[in-house]
Amino acid sequence: MSRIVFFSIPAHGHTNPTLPVIAELVDRGHTVWYYSFLAFKEKIESHGAKFIPCDEFLPPISQEELDRKAGKDFAALIEMVVDTTIALDEKVCAELKEFQPDCIVSDSLCFWGKLFAKKLGIPYICSTTTFAFNRHTAKLMKRSIKEMASMIIGMPRINKKLELLRSQGYEVENFISIIQNDNETNTIVYTTKKFQPMAETFSGKYAFVGPSIQKTSDASKERNSRRLVYISLGTVLNQNKDFYQNCMKAFADSDFDVLMSVGEKTEIDSLGPIPDHFTVQNRVDQTAILQKADVFITHCGMNSVNESLYYGVPMVLFPLHSEQRAVANRVAELGAGVKLKGMKPKHLAKAVEDVLANGTYLENARILSKDFRNAGGAIEATNRILANIDSKTG
Ligand code: UDP
Repeated sequence: MSRIVFFSIPAHGHTNPTLPVIAELVDRGHTVWYYSFLAFKEKIESHGAKFIPCDEFLPPISQEELDRKAGKDFAALIEMVVDTTIALDEKVCAELKEFQPDCIVSDSLCFWGKLFAKKLGIPYICSTTTFAFNRHTAKLMKRSIKEMASMIIGMPRINKKLELLRSQGYEVENFISIIQNDNETNTIVYTTKKFQPMAETFSGKYAFVGPSIQKTSDASKERNSRRLVYISLGTVLNQNKDFYQNCMKAFADSDFDVLMSVGEKTEIDSLGPIPDHFTVQNRVDQTAILQKADVFITHCGMNSVNESLYYGVPMVLFPLHSEQRAVANRVAELGAGVKLKGMKPKHLAKAVEDVLANGTYLENARILSKDFRNAGGAIEATNRILANIDSKTG
């Protein structure tokens, strides 16, 4: 039986798709260790892996600061990655030398997992919960001028950190070699070839396994006669009182129900009076809700969009940064949703009306749903990991 070590960043969107995979590996008798963060301990342990916390090794940065920087301040993220790698180096290297894993599966943004694998000579598989990324697709992530400026200004800070890495025995060419995946690396991508833009530019080392969805009870039977609009801005940049209040104004007199997930840190009382046909919660079981929803107003996090398409739900697209804009563009291109033209109540009302009135959005979402359900998901991801180990040991 094999020993497999997972690494991920502290983000639900990057952790969730790996959970059914670790459960499947454990079910098949393999031993899984997972280096992650305390907020994810319960999730990880309940899927059968040994959880190892990395919280104390993260640089001291408040969650608010991290949320603000996520997807915006590139240099700060690289600095954080390098500082985390150096801080974890002694502990992880000692533990992994002892455990002797057959393979490391590390999130595509959890660069320290990849750096440890390279340093210790352990086979590495990249786990990608976003679109797969290469120099071709980079062009799709049209970064805003502000994002570009912050990246350029941050280069000296990045280079200084790379020097530090090299001094600790990590062979890194440049920062691109850390962040970019290449056609030689075995990579699991949790979406399908059909949804991945420029899929033809990726080699056969990329396994597009489709969404890895948590098994939930079949909630589709609980649909009631009124239609349901589901709204969520995900788990990171979700403190947006204006947006939630605009949703309440937009749909105050609608004849459908609205379920709004506003994130753990939004005080529901601060949103003012909530219309009777609205349900507002800090967190919901999203994959269960999507089995009942008619439209999803989403920030276009990759997991939310994957889950929505898996269940054939058309979307109103409200991306918040460049990566999410690329996801939104792809959904719009494939005709499974409309982009919001503004954040005012009239924009929200018009977009939802369009999606509900025009059946082609639903039709296209259902076509993608078939494709997503046939891609193999967690089972296929597990097969790929094990096949990779067999090819190395066999
Ligand atoms: N999610 C959830 N309940 C909520 C809101 C989000 O379970 O109330 C889950 C959602 O199903 C998805 C993840 O959190 O798996 C969000 O990931 P995504 O990539 O969409 O966005 P992020 O939170 O990373 O911005």
